[in-house]
Amino acid sequence: MGMDFDAVYYEPDTLNYELGKMLRQKYADLTWNRIESHNRIPELAAADNRDFPKLKSHLILGVRKTHKYVPNHKVSDWLVPYTSSGCRAMCLYCYLVCNYNKCSYLRLFVNREQMLDRLLKTAGAAPEQQTFEIGSNSDLVLENTITGNLPYTIERFGREGRGHLTFPTKFHMVDPLLDLDHRGKTIFRMSVNPQEIISRVEFGTSPLRERIQALNRMAEAGYPVGMLIAPVILLPNWKELYGELIDQLAEELSPKVKNSGFIEIILMTYSFVQNAINTDAFPNGVQLLNREIMTGRGRGKYCYRREIRCEAESFLREELSRRLGTMPILYIA
Ligand code: SF4
Repeated sequence: MGMDFDAVYYEPDTLNYELGKMLRQKYADLTWNRIESHNRIPELAAADNRDFPKLKSHLILGVRKTHKYVPNHKVSDWLVPYTSSGCRAMCLYCYLVCNYNKCSYLRLFVNREQMLDRLLKTAGAAPEQQTFEIGSNSDLVLENTITGNLPYTIERFGREGRGHLTFPTKFHMVDPLLDLDHRGKTIFRMSVNPQEIISRVEFGTSPLRERIQALNRMAEAGYPVGMLIAPVILLPNWKELYGELIDQLAEELSPKVKNSGFIEIILMTYSFVQNAINTDAFPNGVQLLNREIMTGRGRGKYCYRREIRCEAESFLREELSRRLGTMPILYIA
């Protein structure tokens, strides 16, 4: 699974960085368009919703200037803006669309040294050990296939860092991570969903079976691991789909994952913006907005109604405790 692009949009300064130079060569055959800022590319912002897949095939290069950490209270203590935001894949519910609208294409930031310097400094100065989520704005395993940023990050944090890094992924390309000197300081989290949902909703991501194998291999390589069942999408046959998913997980996850991994569960939220883009860009796609079981929760967002959530929660807790009882459920959100 790789990434193909049809054009590059770049801030000229990016070519003064190693990654910018390497990508300039790698994608020498594409058209390179100069931009003033990765944050504002007027010609792309003006595109129609139905051009969304086309926009996703552009690669944007910039230098990250804002480095604001946001407190978080789940697996990590902080959400850290890191080496990319946006993504080449096209999950119909992707939260990045809420932030960036149509412009949720992959933006790479070439100043990784600066970002990691800052992270190491913050980690070192904190009164207690902290966990930093570096993958909340993109999928770093997919990004890594063209940047090689993860080996650099994981090994340097292993040597110099205090506390932990963590990131979730929907991709299986973990080969470059297996032999790294990570020192147990990177928590790897694999996101899973029933294969039918992956095929119909998570366009461009890895198949379930390969995700499970990647998770097993990362645990075997000594990384602390977790699994996200996320986002749980309540299609009409959801009990059957998630029941089968849990069966498959119970069968295929290694004893190491079962004995040391944790589980996070997040029910889908969806927004008016996503619905508008998906309706135009994927007219035959699955309809994720179901007003019968969803309710508004402000700012154009929808989530499942309370009684529906309760039903899903108790179903998942029961099935998981029967088949994967050794894995603690950290939270259901
Ligand atoms: S893989 Fe993650 S970041 Fe990429 S489109 Fe899907 S949800 Fe968004």
